[in-house]
Amino acid sequence: MPMAPPNPDTWMRVTPQGLYCEPGDFFVDPLRPVPRAVITHGHSDHARPDHDAVLATPETLAIMRARLGEGRAGRAQQALRPGETLTRDGVTIRLVPAGHVLGSAQVVIEWRGSRIVVSGDYKRRRDPTCAAFEPVPCDVFVTEATFALPVFRHPPAEAEAARLLESVRLFPDRAHLVGVYALGKCQRLIRLLREAGWDRPIFLHGGLQALCTLYQELGVGLGELRPVPTPAKRGGGGLLAGEIVLAPSGAEATPWVRRLAEPVVCAASGWMRVRQRAKAKGVELPLIVSDHADWDELLLTAEQVQAPEVWVTHGREDALIHALAQRGVRGRALHLVGRGEEDEEASPETSVAEAAQP
Ligand SMILES: [Zn+2]
Ligand SMILES: [Zn+2]
Repeated sequence: MPMAPPNPDTWMRVTPQGLYCEPGDFFVDPLRPVPRAVITHGHSDHARPDHDAVLATPETLAIMRARLGEGRAGRAQQALRPGETLTRDGVTIRLVPAGHVLGSAQVVIEWRGSRIVVSGDYKRRRDPTCAAFEPVPCDVFVTEATFALPVFRHPPAEAEAARLLESVRLFPDRAHLVGVYALGKCQRLIRLLREAGWDRPIFLHGGLQALCTLYQELGVGLGELRPVPTPAKRGGGGLLAGEIVLAPSGAEATPWVRRLAEPVVCAASGWMRVRQRAKAKGVELPLIVSDHADWDELLLTAEQVQAPEVWVTHGREDALIHALAQRGVRGRALHLVGRGEEDEEASPETSVAEAAQP
């Protein structure tokens, strides 16, 4: 008689470092340096420095080298492309697109007939800068719950880009300054603007240039990008009226902003749904553009992966677990520490200095 598959929580454990696959002896997105790490994507709350061996998609490895430096992005880097499988100690690993940022992947892990999918961060909306999320049926689906409240239903990102362009038309004497996260949001917004027909140069704060260059090297066309010019004389302003300028969130509160012509302060984030938050940050034009699943997408995904059990890493786990229970799915809050802290979606207070790190 064939053996029944092992219970998932006997072989995937929650440790202070994060999720640990015991038979395969590796961690997924560990918080501290470990001998063997599998990394879902390049955001700094997932891709930490100084692991010995790192397994990830080629794009995530390139992003890690760019952000952390060659010396700190894993002593040994191993690339695994979507579609390829790797077996170590009887554990099979596959990376499947997560639709979050360039290179982002879900980690599909199988051991003795039991399958766990660690999704990292993900979204279900179209994103012209990365491969779309693919649902993989599994025994346990590990999800985040950043926007797990019914109030979070993201509008189409294309409509938000159109609102930005409409404002540019209405206020040709002002510069439009959009606060974005350096990895993912910045490049997605640029592509959305290009698709909407904006073919003028887009101006970048210095903190955004390195990752845009990397995206372009990795084949994501962004059109003409230019650095924000320095005023001819110290303290001079009035630059870039009628143009779109992207900067790390928070740059609008620094002296750097004085060079721009009467800037319309915009921000692109899922949190812009919360009016008070936009207001508190002095955002004149909030754009609801999120790289995370909203309430409907979280529930749709849980349904599609058909997992009897869903583990929630962080966020609004109570609401999600309650909604899953009504659908006959067992939810479990993992309370992983350190998640969402440096990922713009979960941390709208990301400092300029942090976001500006190459
Ligand atoms: Zn992320
Ligand atoms: Zn994250």
